[in-house]
Amino acid sequence: MKKLKIRTKIMLLFTLLSAILLGALGPTVYSSVAASLRQTLQARLQMAMSQVISSVELQNGRLHMDLEELDVRSSVQMCIVDKNDVLLYDSGNAAWLSGEGLGDGEDYVVHEGRRWAVQTQGYEIGDVEMTVMAASSTEYVDNSLRNLVLLLLVLAPVYLAISAFGSFLLAKRAMEPIRQITQAAQVIGNGELSRRITGVETKDEVGELSETVNEMLDRLEASFQRERQFTSDASHELRTPLAVISACAEDALGRNTPDCRENLMTIREEAERMTKIISQLLMLSRGYEGRIHLEPEQIALREMLGSVCDELKDSASARQIVLHNAVSDEVLIAADQSLMTQLMVNLIGNAIKYGRNGGNVWLNAAIRDDGTHITVADDGIGISGKDLPRIFERFYRADSARDRSGFGLGLPIAKWIVELHRGTIGVKSSLGHGTTFEIIMPPDAK
Ligand code: ADP
Repeated sequence: MKKLKIRTKIMLLFTLLSAILLGALGPTVYSSVAASLRQTLQARLQMAMSQVISSVELQNGRLHMDLEELDVRSSVQMCIVDKNDVLLYDSGNAAWLSGEGLGDGEDYVVHEGRRWAVQTQGYEIGDVEMTVMAASSTEYVDNSLRNLVLLLLVLAPVYLAISAFGSFLLAKRAMEPIRQITQAAQVIGNGELSRRITGVETKDEVGELSETVNEMLDRLEASFQRERQFTSDASHELRTPLAVISACAEDALGRNTPDCRENLMTIREEAERMTKIISQLLMLSRGYEGRIHLEPEQIALREMLGSVCDELKDSASARQIVLHNAVSDEVLIAADQSLMTQLMVNLIGNAIKYGRNGGNVWLNAAIRDDGTHITVADDGIGISGKDLPRIFERFYRADSARDRSGFGLGLPIAKWIVELHRGTIGVKSSLGHGTTFEIIMPPDAK
């Protein structure tokens, strides 16, 4: 049974159910038809007897029967006997009834190989006692019941065959979308991720299933696409420093002169660059795998931003950029100190990197109902509308940022840190005028 297809199982179950139903209904129909036919037969006998009894009367001490009024059906045989079993009346060939020794009431007897329904009734008129007997052959009832049995026996297999075939067709039709889903899943399993389940137009459970599977495939495809893009970007980013490292090493090995120092310094720089990329990549991948856990503590935001500004003051002053920390002392947030510092280093570092010489970076915070709003704003190069939706993607860098150092991992890390704290990060920018990043930390992180 386990190996059978669902449509075969449905067909078998439905047919079995129909067979059980037929098995229960057949005898019920038979017995109720039989009971009603027999009742009709006995009622006919009863009516005939009443007619006979009403036609008998006593005239001058002798029994007289008004036979002209009598309308006894030919199918009913009747006789009347007195208390000494002397035959007083016989409708035809009914004298045999007096020899059957019948008691009062209804009965069935066999006479000359035929079955008869009989009724007897005692009757007294004046001081004359008599017994009225009536009989009718059960041939009609027996034949009707035999025909009924035959009909049931012929119809039952036909009904079962039709119900088996019908249920098989219905189940096959109902299972068709599932077959399509399986086929599509097989094709997708073979690597055709762009394939979707089509042809299921219904809004029922199967339609819902195929819609859900299609949505899941959309997400899967997008995530595979991102993974592919990430791998290609990662290898691309690592290839440049690696090429420089090996060229410099080759050169240094070949020359072995004081110029070696210059090459060795380049090697060190590129190795440092690679180390940075790799450690950021590691941080991101650990974060996505859920291997980094929050260690929240109460952080005085102004103080924390102050130390980040200290850390970055050299790069800011190299470009005469002024950092304005306008956050008030009261603003406290419950967050992971080292992750929050990393987040702010990334955002303020970018504001300096993409700022204009002699420009400004403003840091602000406001406590609102939906949480603490922290903003990092600059008056730098800004981001174009085309780049804006993509800057949180791994390795994405706007063309205008190409001449400045960076790998396109700072913002994905920032976004991941904010979301780890159940906050949100958004950006507003105007090309050539500046950019503002806004973080909203949820109220319970105050
Ligand atoms: P990168 O290492 O290139 O800075 P990020 O992930 O930190 O990588 O940023 C992605 C891109 O977003 C940058 O290459 C740059 O184009 C843009 N960007 C980020 N911050 C700013 C900013 N403050 N002003 C202008 N552009 C920015």
